[in-house]
Amino acid sequence: MIGSVHVLEGGSNAVNGIWTQFGGNLSFVCLAISLWAHFSIQFQSRSVTQEKIAFGIIAGGASIGSILLAVEVNPGIYIDIRFSPLALAGMFGGPIAAAFAASLAMVFRFAVGGTAMIDGLIAIAVATGIGLAANVWIRRRSAELMDVALLSLALGVALIVLMAVLPTLVHARVLAIIGLPMTVLNCLATALCGFVLLKTQQWELERSILVTAFSQSPDYLYVKDRNSRFITVNENMSRLFRFRTTAEMTGLSDFNLISRPRAEEFYYLEQQVMDTGVPLIDSVERIEDRYLLASKVPLKDRQGRVIGLAGVTRDVTERTALERELRKSKNLLSHAMAGMSDGIAMYDSKGFLVFCNDQYRTAFPLSGDARVVGAHISDILRRVAETGERTGIPDNDREEWIKAASATLHSNKDEEVQLHNGDWRSIRTRLAEDGTAMAVVSDITATKQAEIALRLSAEQLRNLAETDGLTGIVNRRAFDEAFARETAGSARKNTPFSLLMVDIDRFKAYNDTYGHPAGDQCLRVVSKCLRQSVSRPADIVARYGGEEFVVLLPATSAKGAMIVAEQFARLLSQENIVHTGSEFGRVTASIGISCATGATLRLNPNRLLIEADAALYDAKTQGRNRILAHSPEERHSMKDVG
Ligand code: GH3
Ligand code: MG
Ligand code: MG
Repeated sequence: MIGSVHVLEGGSNAVNGIWTQFGGNLSFVCLAISLWAHFSIQFQSRSVTQEKIAFGIIAGGASIGSILLAVEVNPGIYIDIRFSPLALAGMFGGPIAAAFAASLAMVFRFAVGGTAMIDGLIAIAVATGIGLAANVWIRRRSAELMDVALLSLALGVALIVLMAVLPTLVHARVLAIIGLPMTVLNCLATALCGFVLLKTQQWELERSILVTAFSQSPDYLYVKDRNSRFITVNENMSRLFRFRTTAEMTGLSDFNLISRPRAEEFYYLEQQVMDTGVPLIDSVERIEDRYLLASKVPLKDRQGRVIGLAGVTRDVTERTALERELRKSKNLLSHAMAGMSDGIAMYDSKGFLVFCNDQYRTAFPLSGDARVVGAHISDILRRVAETGERTGIPDNDREEWIKAASATLHSNKDEEVQLHNGDWRSIRTRLAEDGTAMAVVSDITATKQAEIALRLSAEQLRNLAETDGLTGIVNRRAFDEAFARETAGSARKNTPFSLLMVDIDRFKAYNDTYGHPAGDQCLRVVSKCLRQSVSRPADIVARYGGEEFVVLLPATSAKGAMIVAEQFARLLSQENIVHTGSEFGRVTASIGISCATGATLRLNPNRLLIEADAALYDAKTQGRNRILAHSPEERHSMKDVG
């Protein structure tokens, strides 16, 4: 045999029953490895190194046992399967197990001695080395069947090579005599035992996963026997009842742990689960101030008999408290929303109505029924458009408006909208980080009406302040403002600016003759004629004082002003207001015209007034009832309109 070509005396009849002897050898090695597989679980509570050392010693022992059970196939030539445990120790146990196994085998082989001792030691080292190589090969993953097959193949090849090259073995023709059975036996033993170790490793892994999941679970886990006594509990459970280890609870029942009535209640429930086979799922238990959710499932053996139950109890105290809090605050919130005067609505990021109070619906009388949870903003706005609930929606571009208005839902915005019935609503939209839009709707009709009334009365006041009470035209104060503004405007635009100054002739006499009220009436007629003489919106007719009027004609030349003056004189003559105190027998007026452009307007606009006044004075002195134009730049000839 490899490694021990013992030249022993006698024994040449060993061929009969030789395979039976091989079987014995194989069984011994397999038994040793199986025993290890079985007891390795015991070593899990110890350190990894201790476990490896133990494995090495067992493998070494198996190797030595195999040598002791060697089968003599030819005089002095023995076969055994010592290499198989060594290779397996290397692969599954790593360097530590390999070192122990190889050392034991080598020491023993050394003690046996013989001519092939050195070669024997070499062979032991090679077999162990192959195992270590396999260990490196499967590093960072778990071994598979294929790895075991490769190991036994590699071992077989190595044995054949050794038998072919090691001098003592070559000399004894070991390869020729026992090469085949030797290799086959070692390969077989390696494959068989490797398979057992592989399975053990997988079971150990599964078991440790289950044990970890069970013992580390944050819930309370336990298994009870048919009499409701604990078989096993997890760490959380033993901690709950203040035991140091989980084992201390084995054999106890609820009667040892909680009050008798409670224990009886649980016992009854559990017996019911086990009697009926119907599991109890999520039953709520209250122990002191804790809320527990308990599930109990019957455990059955392979014949389907109930042998106990597995239980899970979850502490949901915090969750229950949170749920209660949430319910409370939800109630509070909906109360607050129902009680508030504003309408409030929440739309999700896609524009669907998630929540709204009744006030939100009633704030929009025509589209209120479309404002329901789940409705999309565009459908709500379509209803608004169709019913004409809101003013200012274009009839032809309705869909465009809906699209644009829907899009603005998702921006921070304050708007005031008027409804069909004249009511006003303010809609404040605020966007949350997650895209939710919150809309608050208030009825601002009263405020809005007050605002409009205020604006109107302010306008009336302003009109009043700017209007002459007697004639209804612009008064002196407003004239001064208009004069400054309009002359500056014309200067900027570099357009001509004309001014008429009108004074009623012999008006004192008119008053004296017909009385003051008639004089007032005359003033009204004159101002009406003046208003009718101008046609452009920019033209301004103002009462300058007493029975004097001014007409401002922006963007008008002296010629244009003359036309306006003549038109006025014509209209006044058509009125034909009898005035016996006048040389003309009716009410007439004298008119002074001035016109300016550019620099004069910019530098000295008052020159316009002075010139018009001068022209008016000239018209008076030259006989009244006439139009005279003065210009700051040049003088125009007098025009007699009598
Ligand atoms: P002349 O042709 O030179 O302008 O003669 P006149 O009488 O019009 O002269 P004057 O300008 O001195 O007279 C103005 C008169 O206009 C004096 C005043 O009694 C009268 N008057 C001024 N304001 C009013 C008014 O508001 N109502 C009435 N009825 N008369 C007014
Ligand atoms: Mg006068
Ligand atoms: Mg006068």
